[in-house]
Amino acid sequence: EEKVNQLGEQKEKLEQAKGEIERKVLEVEVSSRYKSEFLANMSHELRTPLNSILILSQLLAENKHKRLAEKDVEFAHNIHTSGASLLNLINEILDLSKIEAGKMELDIEPVPVTAITETITTLFTEIARNKDVTFRTTIAPVLQKATIATDRQRVEQILRNLLSNAFKFTPKNGTVALSLQAENNNVVFQVADTGIGIPKDKQEIIFQAFQQVDGSTKRQYGGTGLGLSISRELAHVLGGSIRLESIEGKGSTFIVSLPLTFNETLSVPTGKEIS
Ligand code: ADP
Repeated sequence: EEKVNQLGEQKEKLEQAKGEIERKVLEVEVSSRYKSEFLANMSHELRTPLNSILILSQLLAENKHKRLAEKDVEFAHNIHTSGASLLNLINEILDLSKIEAGKMELDIEPVPVTAITETITTLFTEIARNKDVTFRTTIAPVLQKATIATDRQRVEQILRNLLSNAFKFTPKNGTVALSLQAENNNVVFQVADTGIGIPKDKQEIIFQAFQQVDGSTKRQYGGTGLGLSISRELAHVLGGSIRLESIEGKGSTFIVSLPLTFNETLSVPTGKEIS
């Protein structure tokens, strides 16, 4: 009988602990949702005044009526550049909080694969020329006429992030290559560079928000450390994945795999958009 009583007590204790854990999980979920919603609202409130700063500083920098001294025009340019990086940071935070809150809305439609590569190639050919870096795009013949059911803006955002990094971390006379292959029911985008590479122990960490290989305040390269975490989240929301192969000092290849057909159950977006 004593045994039975002991067991009964233990069962009660376990039930209590289970209840406690369930309450804690709920608390964490609620506060994490508040955090995401707070960030999304804040980002929205910050963007409105920032847009005025951007437009007005741009007007000043144009100095149409020749009323400003050269130094003042330079200041106006600086205000505009700093404002633009701030807007970029705010947009990135908004994107991340939308994804975390499960409120990233997707616009899925059939997109010709070549439409994506043409936009991207136009964008980066100029950057490559300015940086003295060779840029190549290759598409597997089977993809030339293929269509992918996806969110075109979001795929281009992933590729823009990866290619901006590739150009940023590749010195003069290097090469950046975008290649597209078909694999099973996926399109595999590879962004390869002959840049500085990423040490083994940092290859997973850099996909986390705000993480950079060089985290020091005296670092050589700018950036927010958000691009890769957003890209990985976006790839997941689109039903795909992103991974990395890199050798320090030799270069890096980022590999994005996206399904040719979008499967509704893979994505999380529900509810209305935040912004
Ligand atoms: P950001 O570029 O704004 O710092 P990302 O999230 O895009 O943020 O990248 C995080 C970090 O990963 C970079 O700061 C850099 O240290 C490293 N990284 C990303 N892409 C490359 C690349 N192609 N070559 C070398 N390092 C890279």
